Amino acid sequence: MSQYDYDMFTIGAGSGGVRASRIAASYGAKVAVAEEFRVGGTCVIRGCVPKKLFTYAADFAKSFKAAKGYGWDVGETSFNWQTLIANKDAEIDRLEAIYDRNLGNSDVEVIRSRAVIKDKHTIHLVNENRDVTAKYILIATGATPFIPPIEGAEFAISSNEAFNLKQLPADIVVVGGGYIAVEFASIFNGLGVDTHLLYRGEKILRGFDSDLQDSLTAEFALANIDVQLCTDISKIEKLDDGVLLHLNTGGTLKTGAVMYATGRVPNVAGLGLEAVGIQCGSKCEIIVTPQSQTSIDNIYAVGDVTDRANLTPVAIREGNAVAETLFNNNPMSVDHTLIPTAVFSSPEIGTIGLSEHQARREYNHIDVYVSSFRPMKNILAGSDSKMMMKLIVDHETDKMLGVHIMGPEAGEMIQMVGIAMRMGATKADFDATMAVHPTAAEELVTMKVPTRS
Ligand code: NDP
Repeated sequence: MSQYDYDMFTIGAGSGGVRASRIAASYGAKVAVAEEFRVGGTCVIRGCVPKKLFTYAADFAKSFKAAKGYGWDVGETSFNWQTLIANKDAEIDRLEAIYDRNLGNSDVEVIRSRAVIKDKHTIHLVNENRDVTAKYILIATGATPFIPPIEGAEFAISSNEAFNLKQLPADIVVVGGGYIAVEFASIFNGLGVDTHLLYRGEKILRGFDSDLQDSLTAEFALANIDVQLCTDISKIEKLDDGVLLHLNTGGTLKTGAVMYATGRVPNVAGLGLEAVGIQCGSKCEIIVTPQSQTSIDNIYAVGDVTDRANLTPVAIREGNAVAETLFNNNPMSVDHTLIPTAVFSSPEIGTIGLSEHQARREYNHIDVYVSSFRPMKNILAGSDSKMMMKLIVDHETDKMLGVHIMGPEAGEMIQMVGIAMRMGATKADFDATMAVHPTAAEELVTMKVPTRS
């Protein structure tokens, strides 16, 4: 009989916490998970899943336009925001129930309460006003939107609220230039909202390959998204019918709503980390070893709260590795290199490996292959929207260093490219691979002459 109530107590039933808990329980551990909001975490409840549903909704605008060139008369179209919200909510309820059921079927106890760490083996369950003990504690509390503390910041929304807006505004300003900003700018634009994107830097998607940055900016212009670079908001004023934004560039902008997508901060407030002396970094992220162990030997942390690679599949792998390490005598860590990732902007982005800029810094001689073309479907559709594909190759070893794609299904393509890259694919391997015709992806294996070296 263990001296603790649980072998592992997980705080947070999101992607990382759920995976760790279920795998640990499958190895015979007695596990409980505390969740103060909804089971499923950001990804399922107010992140990846509803975002993708919104993206599908927004994409219909393009399809309706394209249909005409293919002989379809779709007549007048109209969009109903309330229908989308209701159907999205029903789907999320369904997924949450599946998560809940899977935890139950795995013999993981789900406790609907806020949990605070009292000492290295004790957790206080706030809603139930009782303490429980555990041999190991796993912190998987994720992250939360950050809005800069400017005057009137309380009148701004984040993606959390955007998922449940009562009405779709006629116009909106999205602030930021990262994943969430470009994804939501595309969604609002597709749904017919007059969309402005304000970004403080010179190029959106900082850190991404420059051809992705430029190509998406050009596509946004084509879609009539008003991108204002080197622009920030100094003050927000509430109006009866929206907000008035005071810009650092001197002018003002009146809009129906302003959504900040200016990054996310680890969810550690009030968690009791100081009480046990868990070390955090400058962004309040929990500092962990490659095995996700915190500075306290029996307390582990996974996912966005550790601010390593803030992506659902990464959190899942990290959670799995903790369970393997602690309960299957199989010490595991997650390789955070070569992570393929997609940005669900319109057009979509899929990217893996080094940007051209990074490759130039790290390698003596690189070959860069770039192809930009109108995808076949766009010709009859009468759309000028382009697709961009880029390969970055180490000239000396022929090894593929980076692959960057912007265009339809780029996310699907980059998953497959990721396998090849992990296997150490060379440009010659790409060249030797037979093309699939007629596809856009065949361009990846038919680029013969470097665009620049
Ligand atoms: P990002 O870090 O991607 O982008 C934040 C943006 O906000 C940057 O453009 C940044 O500018 C800007 N910014 C930060 N602070 C300020 C400030 N004080 N004033 C003005 N602008 C500011 O964060 P997101 O919120 O977009 O997304 C969070 C994370 O979630 C992502 O990094 C990603 O890991 C994950 N995610 C993944 C998705 C996917 O896989 N498709 C989808 C959505 C999120 P600057 O560049 O100058 O720093």
